[in-house]
Amino acid sequence: MTENITSQSPDHESIIKKDAEYVMQNYGRYDIVLESGKGCIVRDINGREYIDCVAGIAVNNIGHCHPKLVAAIKEQAGKLIHVSNLYYTAVQAELAKELAGITGMSRVFFCNSGTEAVEAAMKLARVTTGKTDFVAVEKSFHGRTMGSLSVTYKDIYRNPFKPLVQEEKFVPYDDAGALADAITENTAAVIVEPIQGEGGINVPSDEYLQEVRRICDETDTLLIFDEVQTGFGRTGKWFCKEHSGVKPDIMTMAKAMGGGFPMGAIAARDGISFDRGQHAATFGGSPLACAAALASIEVIREENLLRNSQEMGEYFMDRLRNMSLDGVVEVRGRGLMIGVELDRKCADIVESCMKKGVLLNCTSEKVLRIAPPLTISKEQIDAVVDVLEQA
Ligand SMILES: *Cc1c(COP(=O)(O)O)cnc(C)c1O
Repeated sequence: MTENITSQSPDHESIIKKDAEYVMQNYGRYDIVLESGKGCIVRDINGREYIDCVAGIAVNNIGHCHPKLVAAIKEQAGKLIHVSNLYYTAVQAELAKELAGITGMSRVFFCNSGTEAVEAAMKLARVTTGKTDFVAVEKSFHGRTMGSLSVTYKDIYRNPFKPLVQEEKFVPYDDAGALADAITENTAAVIVEPIQGEGGINVPSDEYLQEVRRICDETDTLLIFDEVQTGFGRTGKWFCKEHSGVKPDIMTMAKAMGGGFPMGAIAARDGISFDRGQHAATFGGSPLACAAALASIEVIREENLLRNSQEMGEYFMDRLRNMSLDGVVEVRGRGLMIGVELDRKCADIVESCMKKGVLLNCTSEKVLRIAPPLTISKEQIDAVVDVLEQA
């Protein structure tokens, strides 16, 4: 899609050709071949640099190739990469304790991705309640496997793959009354993102989440928070649930968990847990993944990235609200999870920013999603806003 890069490495075209020939073409990719990264900057094979406001889709929260993360992965890789969950490892136990601390939940189950975390949460809700159904909300995104897809809103994701685990049951987001009406005696759990990511960076009122909690308690329904995108400092707190003070029964996490190393988990409150044999994952909680997650959590803590996320998020949103770009409908978000809704499709702006050295992406067609590493500086934010103003 990028036409006017002046000098292209000869490898550029050959890599894209190889992809076209051998990789299933399920992704719509931009015409960039990325090769390396440091902090908020990524570099392509032609030597061009970009300020990365995609961050692997809210994954690289501590920046690219943070030296502490690289060192932790190297060290653990030289010791032990994988063993079965038939055995204990010190790093897995340590990470579980650390997660209980930062989530305020009781126990965790480890897996490898966001959708796997949602599947685990759904299984845990069914086995805990003996009930089968789930209520989800409009514009939700919970993943692409059969269970998580059943609670994901977009028809185009779901329809070709029916039958899924249940008929659709979606109610408007930020509408507690509609949710209360949708719960029946068969409802095992309600699943919501405390801020919607793929649905367009939609921030509900704190009272909404509190109402949802109350409705779930009154109807004996479990509440699942999907924090796959909002976790690990993205919104300025360890987890987004802290903003509303609402405690779910089960929460999911993944994306930024391993600082870029694939990893997911669920955490559940006291009294909710899988029994022996009820669930498993071969790679879940591998020593290498756990070492990466521990290092990543340490960096967030040592470098005060929760505060930076909050402060730079406010600065960024302020600059975005005052920039001169036509057709901005709304700037919204929390911390460094920011959406800029336009009155038109944003694909062209994304392309034009890319050519000027800024990576952004577009969600829900009209919303520019800005989710840089939490290490981003004011100077880098100014540079991004300059590029947007020229777009
Ligand atoms: C990305 C995402 C998922 C799915 O995660 P994968 O690792 O891609 O399976 C689930 N829920 C939310 C809220 C997400 O943003």
